[in-house]
Amino acid sequence: MTVAGTPDVIVVGGGLIGAVTAFTLGRAGLRVTVLDADRPGAAWRAAAGLLTPDGERLRGTPLHAPALSSLRAWPELARALEAASGVNVAYRPGVTRLRAGGGEDRTPGEASLYPPGVVQAARHALPVVRARVTRLTPLPGAGVRVHADAGDGTGDRVGTWDARHVILAAGAWSGAFGLPVQAQWGQAHLHAVPDQRSPDQHCPARYGPPTPGFSRYLLGRPDGVYVGATARPARHPADSHPADPACLRPDRHADRWLRGVARQLAPDLPAGPGPRTLLGLRPVTPDGQPIVGPHPDPRLARAGVIVATGHGRHGALLAPATAQAALHLLLGVPA
Ligand SMILES: Cc1cc2nc3c(=O)[nH]c(=O)nc-3n(C[C@H](O)[C@H](O)[C@H](O)COP(=O)(O)OP(=O)(O)OC[C@H]3O[C@@H](n4cnc5c(N)ncnc54)[C@H](O)[C@@H]3O)c2cc1C
Repeated sequence: MTVAGTPDVIVVGGGLIGAVTAFTLGRAGLRVTVLDADRPGAAWRAAAGLLTPDGERLRGTPLHAPALSSLRAWPELARALEAASGVNVAYRPGVTRLRAGGGEDRTPGEASLYPPGVVQAARHALPVVRARVTRLTPLPGAGVRVHADAGDGTGDRVGTWDARHVILAAGAWSGAFGLPVQAQWGQAHLHAVPDQRSPDQHCPARYGPPTPGFSRYLLGRPDGVYVGATARPARHPADSHPADPACLRPDRHADRWLRGVARQLAPDLPAGPGPRTLLGLRPVTPDGQPIVGPHPDPRLARAGVIVATGHGRHGALLAPATAQAALHLLLGVPA
């Protein structure tokens, strides 16, 4: 199947990385189509949206420079996403950090946003097809054929698409394409707030004092007050999760811990119905570094496959820098 006017680029995976990259390529004048499998457990559905290099202790790591360049890019990108879609991405500058001995610091250079809004806004501006991609093959000469099979849900498109380039951004499912990416479960809570004000006005982003173990944080978003988050290796490869609903069940220990975080960071959180549990699979790599560049298989790299995955717990933060890197790689490749 060829999408009307063969696209310059097909982006496989329309999550935080794929959708923001596709939106950025589209703004640069490229014809882009996104294929997304609508996976339960996609990380963007559960992500908090903190843009906090200091909170995530990135100083002195290779991720600090791209994190800072992304932080600088987010305000303009957030405005462009909202203008293109009318969707609220709730970009808010400033994060408060509680000190161990009491008191708090404000870090005006850090920020937060609403990841589902970002994905929805970016997709709004693009052709998005629901399809589960299974294989990529080089075309004779140049270009890539993208193969999609029937997925687990209904409505998946089956067929092939051709494009000059493919960006592989399948998150925790990227291992199926020969990449060293595994899944890490993250669990969080979302509290409904029975208040006239929007929760993102009500409850600015707040980090707990540094403690060993998971980061404790809380932030108001358009959909409620978010409390997060845990991290543990997934018991199965990401591909088996949609087939096994047991894998999508919340962990009761994590639920208890998250209730404790809410009591510590927002003792005045209005009592409402029990919080909703959010579960997502972070795409992680053995060395903790994202993989952004030509596909490691030289046949696929020569055909035009670029990889953008493995962002672990930093995909919202690093999406703009990743999108820019993908754009440079594409424009640098001879047509
Ligand atoms: C609990 C939790 C809290 C987090 N908080 C933050 C935070 O505060 N700040 C931050 O920067 N990051 C945070 N993250 C991390 C962030 O969510 C991820 O780094 C980011 O979502 C990765 O983006 P991605 O596009 O690679 O993967 P995803 O967002 O998972 O998207 C992958 C997409 O690919 C699609 N897909 C998969 N396989 C296929 C296929 N075969 N064919 C077609 N489509 C496919 C899926 O349907 C999905 O839409 C958090 C994550 C979790 C789980």
